[in-house]
Amino acid sequence: MRYIVGIDIGGTNLVAGTVAEDGSELLGLVSEPTLPEQGADAVLERIARLARASMAAASGKEIIGVGIGSPGPLDTKRGIVLLTPNLGWKNFPVRDRIGTMLGLPAALDNDANCAVYGEWWRGAARGARYVVGLTIGTGIGGGIVLDGAIYHGASDSAGEIGHTTIDPSGRRCKCGNYGCLEAYASGPAIAARAVEGLDAGVESSLPRYVDGDFSKITAQVVYEAANDGDLFALELVNETAKILGAGVANMVNIFNPDVVVICGGVTLAGDKLFVPLRSEVTRRAFKPAVQVCRILPGELTGTAGVYGAAAAYLLMARGRV
Ligand SMILES: [Zn+2]
Repeated sequence: MRYIVGIDIGGTNLVAGTVAEDGSELLGLVSEPTLPEQGADAVLERIARLARASMAAASGKEIIGVGIGSPGPLDTKRGIVLLTPNLGWKNFPVRDRIGTMLGLPAALDNDANCAVYGEWWRGAARGARYVVGLTIGTGIGGGIVLDGAIYHGASDSAGEIGHTTIDPSGRRCKCGNYGCLEAYASGPAIAARAVEGLDAGVESSLPRYVDGDFSKITAQVVYEAANDGDLFALELVNETAKILGAGVANMVNIFNPDVVVICGGVTLAGDKLFVPLRSEVTRRAFKPAVQVCRILPGELTGTAGVYGAAAAYLLMARGRV
């Protein structure tokens, strides 16, 4: 069996693992903080060290390449990160730099594409032919997998589902547009909606979870309070489900997927989110599309990006990108 190193570059953490070519085994899963403020060279050194530590756990195995998932926008064909505000990289040839450091052929893909591809390869969307995925965290990333390959579009911009408009005159988004899905349903957006309600005097137990410090309210705190039965937190989760439901219904009507997979911290809300989300999609999207579509939480918490990056390398090596 041959192996591939998968590297998931995040704004907060770097994760690496060595994955069997058939996805059956993940060896040497290692992680450490990204510390982007130390500069690109220091981050690259740390990535290479992490990758070597992972490969050491697979000693004796044949390692054929390295797949890298990075925030974008990217030029996947040239292996270049065009711009990542979180990492401070601009026109940065991350694929070739890492490939050279490790002495392995390398492939680069978008982090959200990798997470969704990982869920298709080894997770909740396994075996599905048409997959649309969302990764909900600090932002909302998206990925589209068609016939076993990541769909990139004409200039690597496909799958930016978080920046599809759900309210033409809505909240301003970090991307400059107004009313993006991300501006309502990302982790920070959920927290901001909670704080707005509290500032307006809504009755809730939420302040007790953060010792009265509203700046400490996160989406996780909202899910926790919702699970404890707080009515305002439940309303926020329900509202989030409706917003996501509108976004997912749009994807269902465009792509007619077998599976929509939703990854990230939002899955902690469980059925409180997924039940109203599914009914909102059912209410909005075309019936024949809804009937075949399973809307599922991601299964590979923390490893989807590593699996997907490794699989993205295989995709490149097989000439399918
Ligand atoms: Zn946006």
